[in-house]
Amino acid sequence: MLAGLSSQTPDKIMALMRAYAADPRTDKIDLGVGVFRDPAGRTPVMAAVKTAEERLWRNQDTKTYVALEGDPAYLAALSGLVLGDAVPADRRAAIATPGGTGAVRMGLELARLANPSARIFVPDPSWPNHAAIIGFLGLERVDYRYYDAQARGLNIEGMLADLGRAGPGDVVLLHGCCHNPTGADLSAQDWQAVAGLLTETGAMAMVDIAYQGFGAGLEADAEGLRILAGQVPELLVATSCSKNFGIYRERAGALFALAPDGPTRDLAQSNLTMLNRQTYAFPPDHGARVVTEILTDPDLRADWQAELEGMRLHMQRQRQGLADTLRDLGGSDRFAHLGAQRGMFSLLGATPDQVERMRAEHGVYMIGDSRINVAGLSPDLIPRVAQAMLAVGL
Ligand code: PMP
Repeated sequence: MLAGLSSQTPDKIMALMRAYAADPRTDKIDLGVGVFRDPAGRTPVMAAVKTAEERLWRNQDTKTYVALEGDPAYLAALSGLVLGDAVPADRRAAIATPGGTGAVRMGLELARLANPSARIFVPDPSWPNHAAIIGFLGLERVDYRYYDAQARGLNIEGMLADLGRAGPGDVVLLHGCCHNPTGADLSAQDWQAVAGLLTETGAMAMVDIAYQGFGAGLEADAEGLRILAGQVPELLVATSCSKNFGIYRERAGALFALAPDGPTRDLAQSNLTMLNRQTYAFPPDHGARVVTEILTDPDLRADWQAELEGMRLHMQRQRQGLADTLRDLGGSDRFAHLGAQRGMFSLLGATPDQVERMRAEHGVYMIGDSRINVAGLSPDLIPRVAQAMLAVGL
């Protein structure tokens, strides 16, 4: 029976990680996989996470099941972090999920339950797993214009024109901040325009926010999402604690469904609970509990926020450092976008051939679409990366 399976294309990022690990060059540079790196190249456990884990170890006296939707304290703390007071609590349905990927999957499952012929509007480009999950669920995907490769920035006119074609029963997927892979985000004004458009057309937005705190700051990164939440009647929000708490492998995330009224909220909640139950019953708890401990203890929360802010500023400095070095070495401002964009990722604008040459000739690894993880840079590495880029003709 198993022989009847068709083979699946391996995940490109995992394949790149394997190629990097197998490369014997000692001066190779990894700008591929999306994890934070400190100046020494490590992905450390954050201090607040260590403290919270220690407390958990001391104080936790049972590991019995919690609830199908996850721990209510976690969902309350996380919904405060992400949504602030943009929407009253009695309009929020929520489930804990295994990471942001679980949240995206459950959000799309919920949309499919509500409307099996929903079209999912996805930015071009987007995190590849969006298209993969949509395709796997048998939903129709419509790509909308998002990034202008020539101008190296957001194409808001094209985006609004394409989103104007989404209607009731459709879902518009948006990145909350730190767009993956482009680093080009919507301004508050752009979010207002999207909110106005969605109110007009009746399409429902689903915001995927996986990097809150990595862009302009914890509150600023949630601003757009909150603008939307305050104006549209319905909204899905998929959030991840992988990056901003540095707990990638613990799989902590959540899906929020904001409903127009109490009865619809209850309907959404019962469907979300059912989705958790029949997929994995109980969502992972350890990472969620660590997050709750941090968010609900003012000292721990302050400590976490300070470390997160340090990480954000480190990434911002690497961006600016690369942009400045390219300007000095190349004598033009065509890479200024790298300094202006936000979050972990930007596109260099290289062809697949140039990406391959940077790997083969210079040991610089990045995703095939020329997405780099700026956290993989450091002041020592920036000149080499800039020289490699210019050497391959960028
Ligand atoms: N959404 C986006 C846009 C992402 O980039 C990621 C992480 N690569 C995720 C969701 C999910 O992350 P995780 O499942 O590790 O929490």
